[in-house]
Amino acid sequence: MSAGDNIGGGVAGQAIVFPPECEQAVRALWDYLDSALDALKMAVIDDHLARCAPCREHAQFERTLIDRIRGIRREHDDPSALRVRVLAALHDAGLSRQ
Ligand SMILES: [Zn+2]
Repeated sequence: MSAGDNIGGGVAGQAIVFPPECEQAVRALWDYLDSALDALKMAVIDDHLARCAPCREHAQFERTLIDRIRGIRREHDDPSALRVRVLAALHDAGLSRQ
């Protein structure tokens, strides 16, 4: 008797196919999180997220991501904060003119 033959472990590679409703929701998600959609579309996504757990989780993830990106951008958008940091760095490096 010979062992070692492994025949027929056929695991079908099933692609995850989102329903069109979900695809639409995910596609509009960034605008939705940005409140850039009109009231009707906002309501449609709201409604979908309320009923669809995977999309809701996805939305939560994206929201966290966007918040983080906004935080970084805010830091970079403040020229005075950058100026203070640059001047402090110059001072630390002994390059201050004072
Ligand atoms: Zn969905």
